[in-house]
Order: sequence, then C-alpha cells, then structure tokens
Amino acid sequence: MNSITIDILLENVKKYNNNHNDLEMINRAFECAQKMHAGQLRQSGEEYIVHPLSVAFILSELQLDCETIVAALLHDTLEDTNLTKDEISHSFNPHVAMMVDGVTKIGKINFNTKEEANATNTRKLLIGLIEEVRIILIKIADRLHNMRTLEYKKREKQIEISNETKDLYVPLAYYLGLYRIKSELEDLYLKYSNPSIYTMLSNKAIEFEHNIQNTLNYMLEDIDTLLNEQDVPHFIKSRTKNVYGIYKRIKSGKKINEMHDLLALKIVVDDIKDCYYTLGMIHNKYKPINNNFKDYIAQPKINMYQSLHTTIFGVDDHLIQTQIRTKEMDLTANNGMAYYLKNNPDKSSLELQREFQFFNSLSKINNSISDDIEFVEQVKKELFSENIYVYTSKGDIIELPVGSTVIDFAYKMSEEVGNYMSVPKINGQYGSPSDILKNKDIVSILTDNTSFGPNIEWIDECVTTGAKDAIKRFYKQFK
Ligand code: MN
Repeated sequence: MNSITIDILLENVKKYNNNHNDLEMINRAFECAQKMHAGQLRQSGEEYIVHPLSVAFILSELQLDCETIVAALLHDTLEDTNLTKDEISHSFNPHVAMMVDGVTKIGKINFNTKEEANATNTRKLLIGLIEEVRIILIKIADRLHNMRTLEYKKREKQIEISNETKDLYVPLAYYLGLYRIKSELEDLYLKYSNPSIYTMLSNKAIEFEHNIQNTLNYMLEDIDTLLNEQDVPHFIKSRTKNVYGIYKRIKSGKKINEMHDLLALKIVVDDIKDCYYTLGMIHNKYKPINNNFKDYIAQPKINMYQSLHTTIFGVDDHLIQTQIRTKEMDLTANNGMAYYLKNNPDKSSLELQREFQFFNSLSKINNSISDDIEFVEQVKKELFSENIYVYTSKGDIIELPVGSTVIDFAYKMSEEVGNYMSVPKINGQYGSPSDILKNKDIVSILTDNTSFGPNIEWIDECVTTGAKDAIKRFYKQFK
C-alpha cells in the first residue's frame, strides 16, 4: 500500500485551491501533527502521521476547504498528544480548534447505552453537527481510513468497529449524499463481519461483470452514436452495484440474475431538458420495463440525489438500469454535501436545515422531545434505522423509516392529507391507518372533508416526529 505523503496531499489540494496562504497553513499543520505524533506507530507498523495525512487526502478528494484539511491533519492531536485546544486556536485559528475538538468528542459517542450522561452528550454533539457539518465529514473520512486498515486490529475490535460503522457512519454518509464513501464503508463492513460471504459475492460480481462485458460495450457504443446523431453532448460510464448491495438483495430473497440494477449505465448530459430528451430516445430504441421508471429529478431523494432511472431490455435481453442526469447531479450523487459546501461555502445552518432533510428532521426531533434518552432513541428509530420506499398512487416516492405506518405516510404527503384521512388503500386493498408499511407498497389515502381531524391514538401509532407533531398541533387548537 502506498502511503500518502505531504507532497501528494499538497498536489491534490492544488488541483482546486492554489492559494499560497492556504497551502502554507496546510504544510504548517502537517509539521505540527508530525512533531506531536513523533514516535507513535499505528498497528500496521507505519508512523502515526500517515493516518492524519490519509484522512486529509480523502477530504481533498472531495475538494474541501483549507480549514477542513488543516483540522483533518490535526484531528487526533487533542486525544493522543499534549497539544491543547488553546494552542491550536493560537497557532491556527479558533474555527480549526473548534472542529478538531468536535471530531475528538464525536469519537466518544456511544449509540448503544441508555445512560443519561451519555445521552445528553450524544444530543449535544448531534445538534452541534447542524452548526458545523464539516466535523462529520472529517469523522467519516477518519472512519473510512480506519476501516481500510482494519486488518491490523484484533478480531473482536474488527467486529465492534465494523458494526458501529454500519449503524452510525453508513447512515450519516447516506444522508450527506457521500455515495462513494457509503458504498465503500458498506463493503468493508461486510468484509469484516462476514468474510466468506464477502469473498463469494465479490467473485460473483466479477464473474457477472465479465459475462456482460460484450453486451455492455455494444450498448455503450450504440447509445453514444444515438446521442451524437442528435447532437446531445454527453459522456457515459458504467458501474456495478457494490458487494453489500448485492448481499442485501439476496438477503431479501432476490436471485442474482433477477437484480436489474446490478449493472447501471450512467449517461451524463448538460442540462435537464437533455435528460428527458435522452430518456425519450433510449425508450424509443430499447423497450423499458413498465413499472421500473423513477423520476428523481422531479422528486429528489432526501439526500438531494437527482437522476432519471429506467430499466431497459438491452441487447440479448439483458436487463440494464440506465441513469440519466446532469454533471451537477452527478457530482451531487457522488459527493453530496461536500459538493454542496464547495458551491455554497457560506451557507448558514438554517439554510442547510432547509435544504438537507436530515438536518431538518434532526432539529424537529430536538424541538419536540425534551428528555435526552428519549431524544437519542427517537433519532435512532427515525434516522438511523433502515428506510423503506413507498409509492403514492401517482407514482411519487416517499421515503420513510422502517416501521412507519400509513399515518406517517399521510403526514409526509401533507398535513391536510393526514388530518382528513378517512381510510387508506394499500396495494389496492382497504387498510387501516395504523397498518405498518413495507418497501414498495403503493398507498393511496381517501380523505373526507367532514372528518374531524386525526384520532388522538394515532400519536402512538406512528414513528416520525413530523406526524406526531402535526397531530399534537391539531389537538392544541382545542385547548
Ligand atoms: Mn483518527
């Protein structure tokens, strides 16, 4: 494995930031960290400084600002050396010191104890994240490098760290739209939690990719010609689903050859108009599977992901998922929050809350629950459990935490739909508001204008804070 050096890091930063003062500060942070960690070794036998350098490098690949890179280089100095927060503040600046302090504290979060002091601490940290999201980005990069080098840890530690990665860092990476990092973390989790399955499935994936290579090349060329003929500027990439994604599908009962999105073609064009135009051309040439079209441009995912997805019958009747999006959407799809920060360096935390639903939900839960232990439990249930996707009768997609009921769905549609719901239909059958929804259910809500608001019991029959708050709001009017 090639170790990252300060020269490699600086070269990478220079690709997007040539500011002399910034580069000088990064170099100074490196020298400081190297001096402070001198003599310390990682379990791999490498000098400790390789770790902060690698973390900073991961963040430079996301093109993050100078202060984030500096904080990444210093991120373990408070915990593992004699350096103090005041000294960092003095030698660099208070913002860098605040971020290093935040990263140090977040490392102490334990999501799995029900102890009061721990819950209070966890709450403070989670809310602090809304104020400075760069702290989570550094922590995620820190975790990614630790996972990449997990082979040097004892077996028990490997299991403990991978489990925490799956429970805490994978959802965070998802909410922040860090798709590439999320996929890598998931694969590393599987590699350490279930090594034999991981090896078996990676081999299967390689075999699959090998078998489909000819088909793929043919389709790439064909679509390329099609778009060139119509003068649509574009580039096309292909990607195979990550190993963990395949694992999850098999676990849910799907056979490998039934997974239509194992292989995806990504077509990146200039603007939204060209996305739909390209979609039309592709459907004209290749037959789409009827109900597999998703318009995430009109209906972005909660992490701001946008794209058109359609599954088509390619040559030799191979099913291939095609994703069509603009360059900006592609950068958002891969780097999410990091790309967003690059374009909006000075967004306030309030604006972030408006635009990233994760922060919005977090602050809603914060405002509606006063007890710290309850707060942590609700955050876990609502934000750190798996999500399901449910369709409206119009085909719109609603994302909800596992365990959500029709009540959560109705209030996610709108407060009015929730308040006036009379009876729901789930997959064409009449159901009840307290029915728990499953992935891919199609739900329509019949409303009744004479309905006198929600049932008070519904508060306990839903899981999302949005629904609970709306029901409370309705009853408050009568007090
Ligand atoms: Mn670290």
